[in-house]
Amino acid sequence: MKIGLEQIVDEPFNWQETLKIPASELGQPDLVKLGDVALRGRLQALTPDHLLQAKLSYGQTVRCIRCLEEFEMDMASDIELILEVSPGGSSGQELELSEKDLGVLSLQEPELETRPLVVEQVHLGIPMKPLCKEDCKGICSECGANLNAGACACGPAVDPRWAALGKFSS
Ligand SMILES: [Zn+2]
Ligand SMILES: [Zn+2]
Repeated sequence: MKIGLEQIVDEPFNWQETLKIPASELGQPDLVKLGDVALRGRLQALTPDHLLQAKLSYGQTVRCIRCLEEFEMDMASDIELILEVSPGGSSGQELELSEKDLGVLSLQEPELETRPLVVEQVHLGIPMKPLCKEDCKGICSECGANLNAGACACGPAVDPRWAALGKFSS
């Protein structure tokens, strides 16, 4: 959605939108599926800038790096940014951090395009190393069975020191 900032003067502007973003757009192979992203936003004039506050909620399906099973995550995150219009700035929307730790988004025109912000936020929400659970047991290196479902027929892993001894005795 595109929002003209000039129309927001005294009254804050509240809106809701639903964004459909294909998982492939994020370029992260661990992200298998991305549900509709619901956004509730509020824009407020803070002369001369604007304050953007938004809440995102969506579901994502990622692949566990240990057992390779896909699992779903419910996501919720907040965006809080100062919007600054600087026509002389570099092209496009640019994000930088101010001293107050509040992000500042520089816009060339008094117009906010929400989609790139949402894509950025969803990107941040993809875990670096997705794990279906903290103690995921992964897969058996012998037969590839998912060990979370119970031990496979290969039996417990043999201590490599004993395995070495076994070679001599046979
Ligand atoms: Zn797992
Ligand atoms: Zn096995």
